[in-house]
Amino acid sequence: MNNRLMGTLLTFVAVVAGLSFATPSHASAKIVTDADATEAVKSSVSLGTAEADGGAATGKASLTPAAKRWSTTTITYKIASGSSYYKSVWQNAVKTWNRSGVVNLVPASGKADITLSTSNSPVKNDATVGITYSSYYNNKNMNGLSVLASAKSYVYKNVANRYHYSKGERTNVAEHELGHALGLEHNVGKHSVMYYATRDQSVSKPDVNGLVHSYR
Ligand SMILES: [Zn+2]
Repeated sequence: MNNRLMGTLLTFVAVVAGLSFATPSHASAKIVTDADATEAVKSSVSLGTAEADGGAATGKASLTPAAKRWSTTTITYKIASGSSYYKSVWQNAVKTWNRSGVVNLVPASGKADITLSTSNSPVKNDATVGITYSSYYNNKNMNGLSVLASAKSYVYKNVANRYHYSKGERTNVAEHELGHALGLEHNVGKHSVMYYATRDQSVSKPDVNGLVHSYR
């Protein structure tokens, strides 16, 4: 990243997708707590106030809200995950968002806008199963939304394993994180992939509505 770009980036914001916490004694109770947190780390050249939603969702369930967007609807991505299993998880998430017809995620030939990856959660026994870091410009707005400069999403393998997530559920987590990487925030309703503790839900109508609204 060059200095000029650094100078225009506002902050690095981590949006944690909360996801779940299965109570051992209640195998069917898949989601019991909000493990969601947003952590903001200002860069040394930060000029604005970093948002901190604390996982709170606002608005109507029928329209997934957004805080940011990319400047164009064609957005490049790269899958940095080594395993074929997770490559497939991320690839499926990309396909699902592309099916919305609103954004066109294309593989990057050079530097990618969005990096999709996997790692293990650095926090012992944490229930956060995915996280997305993004940076955006402090001096650009489109439709009232901050314009993204970069995003990196992770699915935490060790947490997904501990809570016995199926591949489909991991894909839903990947879709949730990719939703953040596209600028979406949490939806108040459970029938959105952007519900803070999504596990069973894939991208649905409210999420596509949110993208349409953001990228109009
Ligand atoms: Zn989230």
